[in-house]
Amino acid sequence: AVSRLNGSGLLRSQGLIGGKWTEAYDGKTIEVCNPATGEVIANVACMGKRETTDAISSAYESFKAWSKLTASERSKCLRKWYDLLIAHKEELGKLITLEQGKPLKEAIGEVNYGASFIEFYAEEAKRVYGDIIPSTLADRRLFVLKQASTQDTTSYFHFFPIGIVGAITPWNFPLAMITRKVGPALASGCTVVIKPSELTPLTALAAAELSLQAGIPPGAVNVVMGNASEIGDTLLASSQVRKITFTGSTAVGKKLMAGAAGTVKKVSLELGGNAPCIVFDDADLDVAVKGSLAAKFRNSGQTCVCANRIIVQEGIYEKFANAFVTAVQNLEVGNGFMETAAQGPLINEAAVQKASCASKSQLYSLKGAKILLGGKRHSLGMTFYEPTVLSDVNSDMLVSREEVFGPVAPLLCFKTEEEAIRIANDTNAGLAAYLFTNNVQRSWRVAEALEYGLVGVNEGIISTEVAPFGGVKQSGLGREGSKYGMDEYLEASSTWIKRG
Ligand code: ADP
Repeated sequence: AVSRLNGSGLLRSQGLIGGKWTEAYDGKTIEVCNPATGEVIANVACMGKRETTDAISSAYESFKAWSKLTASERSKCLRKWYDLLIAHKEELGKLITLEQGKPLKEAIGEVNYGASFIEFYAEEAKRVYGDIIPSTLADRRLFVLKQASTQDTTSYFHFFPIGIVGAITPWNFPLAMITRKVGPALASGCTVVIKPSELTPLTALAAAELSLQAGIPPGAVNVVMGNASEIGDTLLASSQVRKITFTGSTAVGKKLMAGAAGTVKKVSLELGGNAPCIVFDDADLDVAVKGSLAAKFRNSGQTCVCANRIIVQEGIYEKFANAFVTAVQNLEVGNGFMETAAQGPLINEAAVQKASCASKSQLYSLKGAKILLGGKRHSLGMTFYEPTVLSDVNSDMLVSREEVFGPVAPLLCFKTEEEAIRIANDTNAGLAAYLFTNNVQRSWRVAEALEYGLVGVNEGIISTEVAPFGGVKQSGLGREGSKYGMDEYLEASSTWIKRG
């Protein structure tokens, strides 16, 4: 499989510190494996405190110059990076499939999606507007400034980009979870230390290599990986790191938020979801089945916006369940490099265990629930799991209360709109929600009643670089994408000027 990447020049195994490809200081490495075959793809540097400390220093040095460039200069670098990501979309897609497992078509889709954040923020870099506020005193003028100063004197030094950013990212979108953070960070003048997931560092390293080729200065983008908690603790302890941006589990997010308190860092968190997908009697059956299928089985169910509970009204329940099972049966499971594969392997054994538990009655107290389809490991072995549909699930069962993060779709039945909203909101999570109805009034009413950061109406794929993405309640803090995503990396400074 590694031969698929021959000649690409993008397969890197060292970390990137101050623009230099660097081994772990003690020479340690960790294996990166293909989840579809178990084959070792690469041995990458296993870094910790010392490398992270140097990466922070490099980012700090680089910040001095990068933050002083004009927005237009930063924009040009980012645009070039975008062009290079797109020019290498096949190779990057192959890397994603190789280390993460998703079907190649989906992986190339991720490259397009991931790169779109770099393009968007290349444009947005030039649109950081301040404000002029009518003064409360006749002889004063009041401004809100957000742009970096081009001066470098201590008497007029506006540190408006928030500063050095630590970006900690998961394995489910090895490229896009990085670009959503690094795009706005670089656009606003920040520099970054990225810690990708140890399961999928190769895509991150390839993207970083392309950032160098794009002319983004050495030290503006650093990548360290290895000992996650040691790297995380080093980023948290540093007073030079002014922001932590994280996508991953709620448990780790809470740890990072607590750890950021010591130096009062800003935090952005994209954490777990428990997405409801509500299908009303008056929905178009085809649209509802296609939408729910996409919302549930994208990336084999391994996304934080994946439908976790499919809540179906009693009048359409039977018809929906039958059509949904047929659609799920048609999802071909296989190695992501196989043209027809729609479902790749799960990321690791722990993910398979989670999916198995979700399908098992004793652990999830699925009393009275039925398995309509799947419910066990796939005959392909490794970490392949059968796409699974459960019916007669209720909202007290653990499978409804926990994020499954795998290809298991529980169907719940409801009677009234009020009941659907109550079930949907009965969770600490609040990231994505979906609803299917052909009643216009109902779509507005229900969309507004859902306590979620993103709502899809008759739509199963709802993420784009131009709209803010983020959760309410324990699904996180802050927004990624859109003009709102830029503010996460900027400090607003109120400036009084006495006219005299
Ligand atoms: P997932 O279930 O998606 O693997 P995690 O929250 O475990 O979610 O992982 C997301 C990212 O957080 C990964 O890059 C992982 O290495 C990192 N991580 C895990 N534990 C810690 C920690 N204690 N400090 C900092 N980062 C961590």
